Amino acid sequence: DRADYDEEVDSVCPFCGVGCQVSLKVKDDRIAYVQGIDGPANEGRLCVKGRFGFDYIHSPERLTVPLIRREDAPPKGLNVDPANPWTHFREATWDEALKAAATGLAGLRDAHGGRSVAGFGSAKCTNEEAYLFQKLIRTGFGHNNVDHCTRLCHASSVAALQENVGSGAVTAGFNEIENADVAIVIGANPTENHPVAATYFKQFAKRGGELIVIDPRGQALKRHASHMLQFRPGTDVALLNAIMHVIVEEGLHDRQYIDGFTDGFEGFRAHIAGFDPERMSEICGIDAETIRTVARVFAGAQRGMIFWGMGVSQHIHGTDNARCLIALALLCGHVGRPGTGLHPLRGQNNVQGASDAGLIPMVMPDYASVMDDEVRALYRDLWGGTEIDPQPGLTVVEIVEAMHARQIRGMYILGENPAMSDPDVEHARDGLAMLDHLVVQDIFLTETAMFADVILPAAAFPEKTGTVTNTNRQVQMGRRAVPAPGQAREDWRIVVDLARQLGLDWSYADPSEIFAEMTRAMPSLDNITWDRLVTEGAVQYPCPSPNSPGESVVFGDGFPRADGRALFAPARVTPPAETPDEDFPMILTTGRQLEHWHTGAMTRRATVLDAMEPGATCSLHPSTLRRLGVVAGDKVRLTTRRGSLEVATRSDRAVSPDMVFLPFAYVEAAANILTNAALDPYGKIPEFKYSAVRVESA
Ligand code: SF4
Repeated sequence: DRADYDEEVDSVCPFCGVGCQVSLKVKDDRIAYVQGIDGPANEGRLCVKGRFGFDYIHSPERLTVPLIRREDAPPKGLNVDPANPWTHFREATWDEALKAAATGLAGLRDAHGGRSVAGFGSAKCTNEEAYLFQKLIRTGFGHNNVDHCTRLCHASSVAALQENVGSGAVTAGFNEIENADVAIVIGANPTENHPVAATYFKQFAKRGGELIVIDPRGQALKRHASHMLQFRPGTDVALLNAIMHVIVEEGLHDRQYIDGFTDGFEGFRAHIAGFDPERMSEICGIDAETIRTVARVFAGAQRGMIFWGMGVSQHIHGTDNARCLIALALLCGHVGRPGTGLHPLRGQNNVQGASDAGLIPMVMPDYASVMDDEVRALYRDLWGGTEIDPQPGLTVVEIVEAMHARQIRGMYILGENPAMSDPDVEHARDGLAMLDHLVVQDIFLTETAMFADVILPAAAFPEKTGTVTNTNRQVQMGRRAVPAPGQAREDWRIVVDLARQLGLDWSYADPSEIFAEMTRAMPSLDNITWDRLVTEGAVQYPCPSPNSPGESVVFGDGFPRADGRALFAPARVTPPAETPDEDFPMILTTGRQLEHWHTGAMTRRATVLDAMEPGATCSLHPSTLRRLGVVAGDKVRLTTRRGSLEVATRSDRAVSPDMVFLPFAYVEAAANILTNAALDPYGKIPEFKYSAVRVESA
């Protein structure tokens, strides 16, 4: 009975960065069902995950007591049954587990130096928890080896945005598409990955907006697109530079905007002169006339927006890809007005907030450089005299390498699952197994927790109160609706307890106190208070006054760079780190799918979602299936230079005949066994979107 509930609690969906607001209907301390409410990002809408994905929190596999690895446990590996972990772990009290966690990490710090310990925080935790986690690593261990999954999703986008416009966040919320005439969606599949945002894109197309979809894979949004450019994977720079070449060649660029708001145009113009569409067409596979048409449509519009996803960012040239998109918007003056803007669609529900809160090894909260003396002085004062290390820390993939080199010997991992999410994941798992001391804090005994020495059971998102920040820069209030099971505790509480065990003098009693400290350090939170968020549910930053809902569109009067001007940054064509050859003749690309979230820890334990997509499949073009002599449902073997796995097939005309798509949510066919850990030199993001692969009938 859908009307039968004891209580309803307004909160935020815990899955993607759209940040839909939900009403959680609670009956007998369980979430009975969920409805969308009128949040600024969803206006009542929800996708299948938001509506039906919540019962993971009631899974019998939830961690409910602290666990400590048994002295006689088998060697570390993916050999633990989450329903029966007792051969490997024993129950412990919270006191015992916190002491074991702190003693192990502090022992490594004291014996090998603070840099022998690293931390991965989580984009699924609240802003307050992200802030506390980076503070713990920076003050408890004296260095900046703290990172999180932003490194694996939009690190390259953020690198380019910070370099060229001076801020890593979106310049306009996705709802601004309502005011646009043209929109480019490139390297993103919003219908699957940001489904509620996709509804705004479809409405835009329905009312006559020109929707240009650019992606090596076909996708559902194609049906709404005025132009679909299915280009060769990894050739973004060639295609985008060719579009910009046409715009400048035909004089369609916005000279007044360029003169008024940007630097570096003349050098950039000379650079793109070499990218004529006829020549670039041979590289990217899009005919020159289509390139010219799209250039005219985008530059000729009054108001244009650009949205992008991991298809742009997860390449060794991800930063160059994003530089091109920024330059394209600047060239046309499509920034800083309603209906214009640059919008990297953020993945996790709080990856924007966790990044803002400083879960990044080279910057403090609000992206203030650790190398800046004034910044470090500010935090020394705020944090009771603790000196901040001026040396940037290691990033996610670098930390794995440092494990193998025995430079990193201990880790504190909160809510991340590198044993599934890292590229070349067998190498990452080997690194985890080599650690002398691993503390994992999570809601499930994840693949990463299987390698832990101490496991701390955490509360799930609907079991705690705290703020999160979505892809639109909207800071929203998540509210506790149900109690955590057993002895599980909120993450912020566990981090505080661990800090105390490490000898830090922390006394936070409530997330609001942590938020108040953040507002003292972070200008982005000016005019945003805890009380406002409790009352209003959401405030967008930047927020110019205590009564303002915040600004959707920014940079209308200049950019937050030293000279107030945005920068044109030329990008060269760089091939992928490995290209198909005789041994590995096809291209592997990986990603999410609608029903499953990232490494599957939550959604594979959500009854409806798991029933909809119960097992791993790879997508192949029907002609590829025929060539291999298999039919949909048969298994194939996928092999790259990193590893090999067997997986069932699905027939899919959206992938080109030389490509295979594999989602990364399934441990039984873990896509990252195959992926390449080669890094973009600026964002340090791995090339998840392009590996050379061999596909054979299994
Ligand atoms: Fe949740 Fe994203 Fe779906 Fe909204 S679009 S309901 S935030 S998963």
